[in-house]
This record gives sequence, structure tokens and C-alpha cells, in this order.
Amino acid sequence: MISQKMIDWGAQGCAIREIAAYGDRRAAEIGAENVFNFTIGSPSVEPPESVAETIRTLLSELPPQELHAYTPAPGLFEVRSRIAEYLNRSFGATYRPEDIFMTSGASSALAISCAALLSEGDELLTIAPCFSEYKIYAEAAGAKFVVVPSDPETFQVDLAAMERALSERTAAVLLNSPNNPSGAVFSRESLTAVARLLERKSGEYGHPIYLIADEPYRELVYGQREVSFLPAIYSDTVYCYSFSKSLSLPGERVGFLAVSPQAAEHDAVMAAINGAARALGYINVSSLFQRVVGACIGQTADLAVYEENRNYIYSALTELGYSCVRPDGAFYLFIRTPGEPGAFCSQAMSMDLLLIPGEEFYCPGYARLAYCVPKEKLERSVPVFRTLAQRFGLCR
Ligand code: PLP
Repeated sequence: MISQKMIDWGAQGCAIREIAAYGDRRAAEIGAENVFNFTIGSPSVEPPESVAETIRTLLSELPPQELHAYTPAPGLFEVRSRIAEYLNRSFGATYRPEDIFMTSGASSALAISCAALLSEGDELLTIAPCFSEYKIYAEAAGAKFVVVPSDPETFQVDLAAMERALSERTAAVLLNSPNNPSGAVFSRESLTAVARLLERKSGEYGHPIYLIADEPYRELVYGQREVSFLPAIYSDTVYCYSFSKSLSLPGERVGFLAVSPQAAEHDAVMAAINGAARALGYINVSSLFQRVVGACIGQTADLAVYEENRNYIYSALTELGYSCVRPDGAFYLFIRTPGEPGAFCSQAMSMDLLLIPGEEFYCPGYARLAYCVPKEKLERSVPVFRTLAQRFGLCR
């Protein structure tokens, strides 16, 4: 029988992609310059030149049968060694190549982690606002998806609310910092408090509660903000990373997950990760791009552009009377919307200003603006934001 669950997920689609596709259709009708498509988190800056150079070198130096061959499911040993060395050098960790599993970006790292760590009837807990796909990964694994609101003044973790939501059924907690869509970077203090809470609850319930750290935006952080390395604070962490944003390679689908050697059930977790990847049909990550990220580990695209955009759009919109928490990382601004939830985004859409409603992130009353666009696009959108602010009574 065709799976009703899959039909429903397919039919719902992903609102972000749907509104983005609407933007493309409008661009074909009225010209791309007349559409302010701030929907999708696709990097606007080029990958560093070393990416193209590495590809050229690989193409000229390796025989094609070797370059394009299947790789072991967890990834090429030398690439995993380079990643482990990088993490150890950067964060004082002690990963070995066998603790690293190459994945098709953070999405598949998360889907694999959920399939590996969650069983029927378990709960996956996360903090709102959050990336909408988490729910699918949890429910596909037969688990219940539990969303805990963050502190609305800061979008930091609300520890008391988290404690109330934890239960014997909680198998894992998923944290994303720098956060999509709020731009919040969770403080070391609050992550340490989360770790102590999970240690206490794991003891009380008699089973480990895993942390899944979703960190595709680790390098996109502004000012002097520190992005704490969660596995150093809590050893039962599955660290999920992606090169989509840092190297501007979202279409190439490359990332990895890492399991701390100190994790209480390390061998069982690693075995479950191998099994989950197999069950989900991940044979291996692109053999070419595994080698590319292995060679370019530690480098980034020119991310300074996003900070400039953040400064510009945050100031412009707050001057117009909009209210938003100043993002410290990622490339999104989460705007508190005036009027009924949804009304602002609909009005904006009618003016070809495309934002993603907060409902998509379990946080109604907000709209997400992705500022990974050329700055002149942001500048030209300000008059539209002004008209909307006037209509909704934010300014005259
Ligand atoms: N997690 C978060 C919070 C994201 O915003 C995204 C993509 O935008 C992903 C995971 C998935 O990224 P990818 O699969 O491209 O690495």
C-alpha cells in the first residue's frame, strides 16, 4: 500500500521551497530585479578559489576510475582523517577517523542521526524557532517531535521550559546554533546548563539522552561571539556539520557527522549510524566532493559580506519601527510581524517581497528574511518595507 505518511509529507511540500519557486515564476513574469526573494538560505558568495583549483587538480591527477569510484560508506579514510585532525586542532577534541561519517550535508547527517538514535514511541525535543525538516526526520524514525519555545526576548534556550518538556521518552535533544531562523548563537553558559540538565535527567531515566548538534552555520558568526563546541561540553553529542554554507557548496551535498570517542555507547551509536545510512539508501557521499572538502577543510568563502548585510538590514528595519532580535550568526533576520499571524507575509507577497512566515519554524507572529543576497537588493527593498510599516501602523 502506498504510504499515506509519505503522500502527506510530499503534498505538504516545504513552504520555503514553494515560496522560493513562486519568486522564480514572478521573476520570469516581471523581471528578477522587481522581485525581493528573501526566502531561501542559499549562499550568495562564491566558494573560495581553492575549491575550483582542487577540482582541476583532482581531474588532472587521478585516473577517472579512481576519482569517480564508490567509496566506503563512511567516507574516504584520508578525508575522515583530515576532518578528525581539524576538529581536534580547532576544539581540543580527540576524534579518530572512525568517529567521522561523511554525509550529504547536514540534512542527511540529521536524518541518519534520528534514524539511529530514535525508536518507535521515543521523543525528539528541540527549541523553537527551528528548521522545519526536523519534524520529518523524527517522525520518519517513529518518534514524537516535541518543540519547546525559546526565550522570546533573546531566542536563547529556556532551560525551565526544556526541563518541563523532558520525559522518560526523550531519546535526543536537537540544538541548532547559530540558529536558523533567529540568528541566535546559544551562549556557553546556557549550553553548559543544558548539558548538566541532560546529565541529571539521563541518570534519573536510566538511559542517555543524546544531543544532536546541527551546525551548518558554525563559521557564520559576527563580532566576537563564541560558538561553543557542544561535544566538548556533553560527550553524548552527535555533531552534524555541513559545507553548504561555509564553502558555499549547498548543491554539492557534502557534510559529516562525528561521534565523540567518549560517548557512553560509542560503538553501538556508530553501528546504528552505519545501519541508518544503509537503510536510508546513502551509499556514499560524492567521491569528488569528499576529496574537495578534505583538501579545503578550515577554509571558508568570504563570509564578511553577510555581516555587512546583517548590519544594514537590521538597522534599516528597526529604524522603520520593526522589532527583531539582532542576529549574531547565520544569515537570517527574524522579524516580529505586526497584525494577525500570516497577514504581514501575505501583504508583503502581494508587493513581491517574499519572506517565510514564522509558522514554518513553529513560531507564529514572525517572518524570516534570508539576507544572503546582494546588498543592493536589500537596499532596494527598504521602500517596500516602509510602505508595509506604514500600512501596519509601525511608522508614518
Ligand atoms: N540545518 C539547518 C538549521 C539549516 O538551515 C539547513 C539548511 O538550510 C540544514 C540543516 C541543511 O543543510 P544542508 O543539508 O545543505 O547541509
